[in-house]
Amino acid sequence: MRNLFDLVGRKAIVTGGSRGLGLQIARALVEQGAQVLLTARKADELAAAVDELNALAAASRAVSATSVSPASVSAASAIACDLSDPAAIVAFASQAIERLGHCDILVNNAGASWVAPAEDHPLNAWQKLVDVNLTGLFVLTQEIGRRSMILRRYGRILNIASIAGLSGNPMNTNKTIAYNTTKGGVVNFTRALAGEWGEHGITVNALAPGFFPSRMTRGALTQMQAKLNEITPLRRIGDDQDLQGAALLFCSDAGKHITGQILAVDGGVSAL
Ligand code: NAP
Repeated sequence: MRNLFDLVGRKAIVTGGSRGLGLQIARALVEQGAQVLLTARKADELAAAVDELNALAAASRAVSATSVSPASVSAASAIACDLSDPAAIVAFASQAIERLGHCDILVNNAGASWVAPAEDHPLNAWQKLVDVNLTGLFVLTQEIGRRSMILRRYGRILNIASIAGLSGNPMNTNKTIAYNTTKGGVVNFTRALAGEWGEHGITVNALAPGFFPSRMTRGALTQMQAKLNEITPLRRIGDDQDLQGAALLFCSDAGKHITGQILAVDGGVSAL
């Protein structure tokens, strides 16, 4: 059964992998043996994440020689890219495939949010979220699909949506209309692309996380954590491992017959 989740020899790209949920998922991929290429805008944060992941791979190798990538392969590396710029994404995709050789797993995790009531939401903030959360995700997926996955008839695409893409926000919590709208777009993009690319041997799924501590949620959690715990069946927010199991299911052969699905990892909030 362990082989179902084995990623030795697999090549992965994780966007927004420099911190937060992207780094959490990258850790899981590296521990299962994948070679991971991170991207985000800030080179210093990428470098720190790469060091952490390479140390993790070395530590995992010391415990089990068979379950991580061999020492001759660098488990993690990074290329900086602004995913709100389609031309930069095309250049990044070209460099990424040159470096990895091909791409088996694409985790579209990079994202941004903005808090404002709908009536006051600045248009430039709306546009920024559309550019990063939706257009950037589409352009990178198209590039990696065309340059590698479709040609090789193999791919695992995992989009990080949000429970904010499944409904509006609970009353008396932050108002994030552009975020809800773009994450709703990611949800249906996932279903539609699964329909198109299934014939190429590519699965396309999404995680819809509830609240996890990260730079994105720091302000909101300071104000609302007690209320969030109260409205969550499991009475807690996510931690730094809670996305890993679900991510591995969709990125490995364990999930090879699952496509077009959205899995909420939210302590049960979206069930109510
Ligand atoms: P985070 O800590 O703010 O991380 C965001 C990541 O995306 C960083 O690596 C950031 O790096 C990168 N990024 C942002 N804008 C970018 C751009 N224009 N180009 C390239 N990279 C960019 O937030 P997080 O909480 O980990 O969020 C990760 C994903 O999970 C997002 O899609 C978010 O919507 C989703 N999510 C989070 C939660 C939560 O509770 N934390 C819940 C549901 C969904 P740079 O700043 O260096 O570019």
